[in-house]
Amino acid sequence: MSSEDRSPKKTIPVVAVPAQPTPTPTGEDAQDMVPLYVAHQKIYPRSVQGVFAYWRWMLVFITQLVFYGLPWLEWGQRQAVLFDLGARRFYIFGFVLYPQDFIYLTAILVISAFALFLFTAVAGRLWCGFACPQTVYSEIFLWIERKIEGDRTARMKLDAGQMSFEKLFKKWYKHIVWLGVALWTGFTFVGYFTPIRELGLAFFTGGMGSWEIFWVFFYAFATYGNAGFMREQVCKYMCPYARFQSAMFDRDTLIVTYDAQRGEPRGARSKKADPQLLGLGACVDCSLCVQVCPTGIDIRNGLQYECIGCGACADVCDGVMEKVGYAKGLVRFSTQNALQGGWSKQQTWRRVLRPRVLLYTGILLAVTVALLTSLALRKPFKVDVVRDRAALARIVEGGQIENVYRLQLMNAAEKTLQFKIEAQGLDGLSLATEALVSVPATESRWVPVRLHLPYDAATAGSHTIHFRIASFVDNGGEALGEVVEKSAFLVPR
Ligand code: SF4
Ligand code: SF4
Repeated sequence: MSSEDRSPKKTIPVVAVPAQPTPTPTGEDAQDMVPLYVAHQKIYPRSVQGVFAYWRWMLVFITQLVFYGLPWLEWGQRQAVLFDLGARRFYIFGFVLYPQDFIYLTAILVISAFALFLFTAVAGRLWCGFACPQTVYSEIFLWIERKIEGDRTARMKLDAGQMSFEKLFKKWYKHIVWLGVALWTGFTFVGYFTPIRELGLAFFTGGMGSWEIFWVFFYAFATYGNAGFMREQVCKYMCPYARFQSAMFDRDTLIVTYDAQRGEPRGARSKKADPQLLGLGACVDCSLCVQVCPTGIDIRNGLQYECIGCGACADVCDGVMEKVGYAKGLVRFSTQNALQGGWSKQQTWRRVLRPRVLLYTGILLAVTVALLTSLALRKPFKVDVVRDRAALARIVEGGQIENVYRLQLMNAAEKTLQFKIEAQGLDGLSLATEALVSVPATESRWVPVRLHLPYDAATAGSHTIHFRIASFVDNGGEALGEVVEKSAFLVPR
C-alpha cells in the first residue's frame, strides 16, 4: 500500500471535566466494574505460516536435536556430555572439569547474560519468541494438540461441545502423547547427570535410584504442566524476565509493532473498494493477528508486556495484506523512532547499531575470547595443597623438623598421569615421602606429603615454601607442564 493510502492522523479532543465524587455503582453501572480477579480464559492460537513461523520452527528443531541428541553421543569410552555430580566431574567432549574449574561456569554465565542484554537491546524479546524452552515446548505441545483436535475453530468447538466418545478419545489421545513427550524430556534431562544408556536400562527394569525417579517425573510433570496447560501464563505471571526487560528496551529496539498511522481507521471493506474513498486505513479489522497470538493480546493496542515478540501477528497480517493487494508490513519488526520518523529499513538498521549495542558486543567478544583462550591453554591436571592441621611441626628421628601436608592431585586427562613432587624455599628442605605419584585417568588422589628440615636450618616461625609439581604421561614420558603452589613451613621454638 502506498503512502497515499494512509489516512490523515486524527486528533482526539481532550475536554477538562470537573472532579466529581465517585458514586457507588448500582444496578446496570455495577456491570461496568472491573473485577480485581479475572478468571483465566483459555487461548486457542490459530496456526500460522510465514517467515517468523519458519524461523521459530527451525529453532525448535535445532534446540531439540541438541537437547535430545547430545546425551547419546559417545566420546571414546564415555558419554560425550555428562555432569557427574556424585564424582564431581563434568565431562564435555574432550574436557574433564573439576569443581575447581568453576571459573568457566562463571564465564559462561557472564556470556549468557551479555548475549541476552545484546539480543534484547537489538530486537527485544527475541529469546522469548524463538528459543525459550517455554516457547519451544508450548509450540511442540500445541502442534500435537492441532494434529489431534484440529486448528483453532475445531478445538473451540470440541471444548464447547457435550462429552462424546470422539471428544473423550481425542482428549485421552492428546494427553497420552503429551505425557510421552514430557516423560522423554524428563528422562533426557536426567541423562545429562547419569549415563543415559544405563539410565534407559534402569528405567525399563525398575532399577532407577530414588533421586533419578524424582527428577525424571518432576521434570516431566513441569514440562507437561507448563507446555500443556500454563503456556502463556508462565510468560505473563511467572517469568521474571518479562518484568525487567523494559529496562533493556529503548526507542531504537526492534519490537513487533502495528503501524497505526497506516492502519487506522481500521474497518472491513470489499477487496475492490478504495480505502481512501471510504476513509479507511490499511487494517481490514480481520482480527487474525489476535487469533494467532499465543498470549491472546491485540498488537494494535501498542507495546504490551505480554508480547513475547514471536512475530506470529506479523506473519498472518502479511498474508492478509497480500490477499487484499496492499503492501506488507502493517505489523512488523520496527523501532519506535523508525515508526515515528518514517525511516527506511537501512536507516532503522543503522540506528540499531548504537553505542550500547556495540558496547555489549565488545564485552561479549572479549569474555568469549578469554574463555576460549583459557580453555585452550588449560593444563590437563590440577593440584591443591592443604596443610595438615592435626599435625603441626614436630621433631623426628635424626633431629629433623617435620611438617605434614596433603596434596590433592587431579588428573583431568583421559590417561594415567605421573606427578613428580618437589619442595623449595628453604636450604636443606627435603621430601620424606614418595616423590613420584601415579593417578589414573580422570581421577583425583589425596597424597600425604612429609617435609623435613634440619634443626637450626631456619629461625623459629612460619616460612614460605613452594611445591613444584610436574606432570608426565607415564613415567618420564611426555611432559604436560608443572604447577607451583605456595604453602608455609613451621619451625617450632
Ligand atoms: S491481521 Fe492485520 S489487517 Fe487483520 S486485524 Fe490484524 S492488523 Fe488488521
Ligand atoms: S502480539 Fe504478536 S508478536 Fe506479540 S506475542 Fe502476540 S503474536 Fe507474538
